Amino acid sequence: MSHSPLLTRRLLLQWLTLGASVTPLLVAGMGTAMAAPAALLSVDAPEARAVKYVEDAKHAQSATPGSSCANCGLYQGPNGSTQGPCQLFPGKDVKAAGWCTSWAPQM
Ligand code: SF4
Repeated sequence: MSHSPLLTRRLLLQWLTLGASVTPLLVAGMGTAMAAPAALLSVDAPEARAVKYVEDAKHAQSATPGSSCANCGLYQGPNGSTQGPCQLFPGKDVKAAGWCTSWAPQM
């Protein structure tokens, strides 16, 4: 059994259509995988200790009431996030409820 040229062209078009419809899904999936959260900063890391980082601002003796990573000018996590990047610790996430002595108000 051999395929006619028309059938072969039809199959080719079906494959191209399938590829065009699946490609955005693959790209979206890759974007989701790339957006995975970074490793959480350990409170025991030397750089965290240097600025007295804690995961819960309530346990920070020097913290101004109401201040936390979530409302710090250096926090880069989206609104409502529980953790996110901090400009002070590249490649690491901090807890939104955390705090350190470098806390600065948002501008
Ligand atoms: Fe949190 Fe701001 Fe300190 Fe970063 S600089 S750990 S966001 S308080």
